[in-house]
Amino acid sequence: LVKESYQQIKEVDGDVHAFLTLDEEKALEKAKALDKQEDKSGILFGVPAGIKDNIVTKDLRTTCASQLLDNFNDPLYDATVVEKLNAENPVAVGKLNMDEFAMGSSNENSGYEPTRNPWNTDHVPGGSSGGSAAAVAAGEVLFSLGSDTGGSIRQPAAFCGVVGMKPTYGRVSRFGLVAFASSLDQIGPLTRTVEDNARVLEVIAGHDKMDSTSADVEVPAYTEALTGDVKDLKIAVPKEYLAEGVSGEVKNAVMEALKVYENLGATWEEVSLPHSKYALSTYYLLSSSEASANLARFDGVRYGVRSENAKNMLDMFVKSRSEGFGDEVKRRIMLGTFALSSGYYDAYYKKAQKVRTLIKNDFDNILEDYDVIVGPTTPTPAFKVGENTSDPLTMYVNDILTIPVNLAGVPGISIPCGFSEEGLPIGLQVIGNYFDESTVYRAAHAFE
Ligand code: GLN
Repeated sequence: LVKESYQQIKEVDGDVHAFLTLDEEKALEKAKALDKQEDKSGILFGVPAGIKDNIVTKDLRTTCASQLLDNFNDPLYDATVVEKLNAENPVAVGKLNMDEFAMGSSNENSGYEPTRNPWNTDHVPGGSSGGSAAAVAAGEVLFSLGSDTGGSIRQPAAFCGVVGMKPTYGRVSRFGLVAFASSLDQIGPLTRTVEDNARVLEVIAGHDKMDSTSADVEVPAYTEALTGDVKDLKIAVPKEYLAEGVSGEVKNAVMEALKVYENLGATWEEVSLPHSKYALSTYYLLSSSEASANLARFDGVRYGVRSENAKNMLDMFVKSRSEGFGDEVKRRIMLGTFALSSGYYDAYYKKAQKVRTLIKNDFDNILEDYDVIVGPTTPTPAFKVGENTSDPLTMYVNDILTIPVNLAGVPGISIPCGFSEEGLPIGLQVIGNYFDESTVYRAAHAFE
């Protein structure tokens, strides 16, 4: 399997650019060692996997797709999710491309050659986990790990026609995930099928004493929830999720999906998430504020590339950051620093925190009466490379349907639900209650 994975990588990755770092020798060595092992246990035994490059891997380069971390070749430890995976014996074949520090929706913010959509390389794969989605879609690996702060697993999954799950905040340990916005970040699996996805989440989920925000809540056997039975499932469809801005093809695909659910015995009703119109501004204020603090550690001393042109210490900090970070990362740091500065804190950051609570309450209210919320993952299918790069705000609008889920902290999955006229995949989003990934998987699996 690992050999075949590398064969496929050699065939397609020159066009797709899903990988930033590959170590064929190490991967084959690991596969051979597994082969010799008498004990062939482990639910992921020998399965080729890819890891997003903001998840630290011992002795394997971890760059977050940033030139600033270009030489971060040997992290000292594995992230908890990697440790948990390793216990089930998969083979990590390499590290996957992304938008720099997970800031972006198209992979065009990668500090390296951006990933392309395997369905049509004129189009973006989505982001920031574009490499993770593309690698699975292109058959380079059987599963990958991504991270989702405002849609970065679900949006690329939708654009690349694969299954991507953002678990409940606190479900999966963030220890070893390079922090972007710590109150929103979650790691999750990208796979071809819902069943594979449930299997991988079962392995990586669970409490971790190394992450104080990871929840001590029992992890159910998600695969046991895949019964195919959605009779009497109560589905809520927010009218804001099918409003203007969502393309006709996407709306049609979602309406068709709802018919499938009806035929399976589920019922659906239109509901409202009245504060979702504030989600985008709330998210960009909060996530940039957290990012401005989290990225302070990249100073050219502790990690990564140090500027060669510095005259003194202060100059070294400034030049290392100025030379190492890309434009989008700088934009977010400036926005976040501004929103947190005295005089603006109350007007921006504090207000955004209050609106976040209102958004969360909207979800709580709906999920009291319904089992899941269903809608599109993205307003349109994958756009063309370069189409949205001139205006950051149009790029941000891409996340309008995924961001509220992160602000609320609930789990959400994207599954393929059709194709556009141009032959690009369309994603259906299924959102559930806190720590109820089982119902999300059950609903997604029945549709699939
Ligand atoms: N596209 C969003 C952003 O740029 C989401 C990123 C993410 O989920 N990591 O912030």
